[in-house]
Amino acid sequence: MKEFELIGRYFKRPAPSALLGVGDDAAIVRPTPGCDMHMSVDMLVEGRHFFADVAPRALGHKTLAVNLSDLAAMGARARWALLSIALPQADEAWVAEFAAGFHALAAEHGVELIGGDTTCGPLTLSVTVLGETPAGQALRRDAARVGDDVWVSGELGLGALAVRRRLGWLEVDDAALLQTAQRKLEYPEPRLALGSLLLPFAHAAADVSDGLMADLGHILAASGVAGEVWAGSLPSDPRLEALRPRYLDCLAAGGDDYELVFTAPADLRQQVEAAAAQCACRVSRIGRIVAGQGGRLLDAAGDTIPLKKEGYDHFG
Ligand code: ADP
Ligand code: MG
Repeated sequence: MKEFELIGRYFKRPAPSALLGVGDDAAIVRPTPGCDMHMSVDMLVEGRHFFADVAPRALGHKTLAVNLSDLAAMGARARWALLSIALPQADEAWVAEFAAGFHALAAEHGVELIGGDTTCGPLTLSVTVLGETPAGQALRRDAARVGDDVWVSGELGLGALAVRRRLGWLEVDDAALLQTAQRKLEYPEPRLALGSLLLPFAHAAADVSDGLMADLGHILAASGVAGEVWAGSLPSDPRLEALRPRYLDCLAAGGDDYELVFTAPADLRQQVEAAAAQCACRVSRIGRIVAGQGGRLLDAAGDTIPLKKEGYDHFG
């Protein structure tokens, strides 16, 4: 199958909210008046971000999901996406599945694919997303303040569990748990609804892709504050407890969670709970922002729990 047939069949889709979508030299969009535009790009490389034998449908989902997660972390509404794809060969069945996973998630969030690039090469995927927030209102990493609560959405550690098991670092006998973990790894749900509900009153946010303490660390550094996280309050699947002593490592520093870690004023706890209830997303209060610098994971006695690593670092 030729390049343009492939694009026409699998990637050209109606984009009614764009002025021009796939098919010209560049797409054209008109931002909503009174909104700021967000732009973000993420790359996924075989062997680094996904295993070579991953189902193409799951890969299509995840390629877009990790980008939408970045927009969610800023409280943005996702609008448009561009997809660059290097394929070792034009395997039509593979592309059809990949595209199905991608388009299903895009449709769920009202995102339009408006362009991209298709080349031959080692399997590599890159998505650029465009989103919007009302002018000046985005949730930024530099906005945490002393006295804020620290919250996290969903459950932590499941994606990391699936990765560690696959790499042979952990043994897991519980087949149902493994299935849940695999699902979380392959089909993360970007927290766009939660992000936009938090937008009016939360302070800072980031998405947890590399590991909770690492990603919270970015908020702390950007905001010039310190953070305490209570290990006992980290939300997870109770079945993960069986993984001790590696359990905390997965939760606090595992990564691949695609949850939101965010800070909000302590007097707005009810508002956080209400926002979470409105979008049926679990949230947990896991710590607080204090003066100083750096993040500390604390046990029930208030002592610091050392972590070997706070998260994943591509060059670490
Ligand atoms: P050009 O040669 O002008 O760069 P291309 O041949 O790369 O154009 O692409 C033709 C059209 O198809 C462009 O509108 C481009 O945005 C779109 N396109 C190419 N690959 C993809 C893809 N994987 N997903 C979506 N749109 C794509
Ligand atoms: Mg091109």
